[in-house]
Amino acid sequence: MIKGVTGKILWVDLSAGTCVEERVPEEVYEHYLAGIGLAAYYLYKRIPVGADPLGSENVLAFVPGLLTGTGSMMTGRWMVAGKSPLTQTWGDANCGGTFAPAIKQCGYDGIFFVGKSEKPVYLSVSAVGIELKDASELWGKDTRETEALIQAAAEKRKPQVVCIGPAGEKLSLIAGVSNDQGRMAARSGLGAVMGSKKLKAIALNGTQRIEAADREQMKALTQGFMKHAKFKPNLPSGKFMRFLGKMMAFLPLAMRQDGMLYKIMLQKWGTISMNEFSIVTGDAPIKNWAGSDKDFTGKLSASINPDAIRELELKRYHCYSCPIGCGGYCRMSDGGETHKPEYETILALGGLLMNRDLDSLMVMNEKLNRAGMDSISAGGTVAMAIEAFENGKLTLENTGGIELRWGNAAAAEALIDLMIERRGLGDILADGAKAAAEKLNKACEEYAIHAGGQEPAMHDGRADPGFALHYAVEPTPGRHTIGSILYYEMFQMWRKSQKVPKPSPIFYPKKWKYRGDKNNAGIAVANSKMKMIMDGAGLCLFGAFIGVHRLPIFEWLNAATGWNKTPDDYLDMGRNIQTLRQAFNQKHGAPLRHEMSNRLIGKPPLREGANKGWSVPIEELVPLYWQGMGWNPDNGRVAEADVALEGL
Ligand code: SF4
Repeated sequence: MIKGVTGKILWVDLSAGTCVEERVPEEVYEHYLAGIGLAAYYLYKRIPVGADPLGSENVLAFVPGLLTGTGSMMTGRWMVAGKSPLTQTWGDANCGGTFAPAIKQCGYDGIFFVGKSEKPVYLSVSAVGIELKDASELWGKDTRETEALIQAAAEKRKPQVVCIGPAGEKLSLIAGVSNDQGRMAARSGLGAVMGSKKLKAIALNGTQRIEAADREQMKALTQGFMKHAKFKPNLPSGKFMRFLGKMMAFLPLAMRQDGMLYKIMLQKWGTISMNEFSIVTGDAPIKNWAGSDKDFTGKLSASINPDAIRELELKRYHCYSCPIGCGGYCRMSDGGETHKPEYETILALGGLLMNRDLDSLMVMNEKLNRAGMDSISAGGTVAMAIEAFENGKLTLENTGGIELRWGNAAAAEALIDLMIERRGLGDILADGAKAAAEKLNKACEEYAIHAGGQEPAMHDGRADPGFALHYAVEPTPGRHTIGSILYYEMFQMWRKSQKVPKPSPIFYPKKWKYRGDKNNAGIAVANSKMKMIMDGAGLCLFGAFIGVHRLPIFEWLNAATGWNKTPDDYLDMGRNIQTLRQAFNQKHGAPLRHEMSNRLIGKPPLREGANKGWSVPIEELVPLYWQGMGWNPDNGRVAEADVALEGL
């Protein structure tokens, strides 16, 4: 058996109340790595065609990465996967924190849930044994309360906990799963799947060590990486970031980015480093994807400048095995504290709603984290409702008297409360913008900005068409973490593989990004493969931004497992995973190319701001992407032989 993995998974049947171990054949790791690849392998096989995502046949997987716990760095991500109730496609979500190593310390490469419990339960795995415990007392508690209560009940060492809040319990289709006091694996609505199974939480308390095949080599590679991680010159102020963004937006040339700059920004501010930079470069959508920095001007966005938020920071934290430490806790005006909001949260509830009130952003961040609701989807849904109200498609009667206006922070907060509690209009909005618009009023549908039913993240394909392409073709629709032209520049895969597109010159004409050609589709293909390797290994996306020549993911994988594979072998494994996720959608009759709102592709193009005049050549890019993945270029279908694993 290879090293670096435990070689087995745990199956929990919530209908029968049984927990059974299963050995994972070595060929599965050889073909699909671990992490998201393992989830894809079992979910593809075990979820029957026609399964209701909120029914007992859906399988919910919790997986760490292959590299988690092996002595590598930035490899503590865990993933939750299942058939998404929001999009009816393959669904997964990814989170940092401390839960990933806890799965392996319990002796498993994944924990898989099937069936439905009759009453609320939580899974406990510890030295005492594996047990489904009564969670009736926890049902109704928020994520922070739930985690604290489970940990307080532990006799000795505190378990690591993931759980849902009221949003998941109430089957909100934009509910996520929380760990570490409100950090969310937010996307795809998988919190609702947990709620449908009456599974309130998982509490893990194992002590098993993970053996790497070559510990000395792991150590040497990690030491080499640490030189880059420690490089931390002081950056100028947050205002400078805005100025830099303005310059980049003004120039007719694009500049090839090196992710070391982003790493340094992360170390200083966290993901909020991008707030104003992204607004002025057109990366951040404004006013429900219809506006620009001409609407959300510097006067408004100054309140979300990274320096303004950093002033509220009380302490920093790191995920497991991460020297960067982009997380933190911030002070709230009522004296409480909340996780430092992520860039996505600030923009989804800020610029997207024209809301400049930082205090309200902190409050909504905390409410959503406690409820276990996706802040990206919540922001996109509130934006739809505001635009509908502004255009007379929703009335005060619909909103229960709330004046839903652009920039009205109190109204946005009131609507978030209703969504969390599923009251009044909030009951409809709790299932996301697309489903809500369909129920409300046909005329609202044009304001529901989505890809395949999911609200896209705060990265605009009109600024970087790579995002729009992945929103359309990624098996999890609307996913922003798979790739873009910017990501490709930062991954620097060309330093390890001859088979990926060559780097662009340092400066190149901006219009090159908008070419619907083989090169740009090839960049998306390479990104998809690379991200599947990351999700198989448990690597943080921000780690990969540092570049594969500095962060030795391929070399770590060889040293951990004992394999002697080339980067191209790993890229083939990444393709295997992506192909299986695509085949999952094909098996379930889900779209292989997702319906997208016209605003996401610049149809028609914006008339002002950094994205003025640009649209995405999506019709040209999609077939070229499918062809590059080795799928049918006409329809994206995967050949059956491509997912059949001999003898398994
Ligand atoms: S960079 Fe941030 S999100 Fe990524 S592993 Fe480190 S602390 Fe976690």
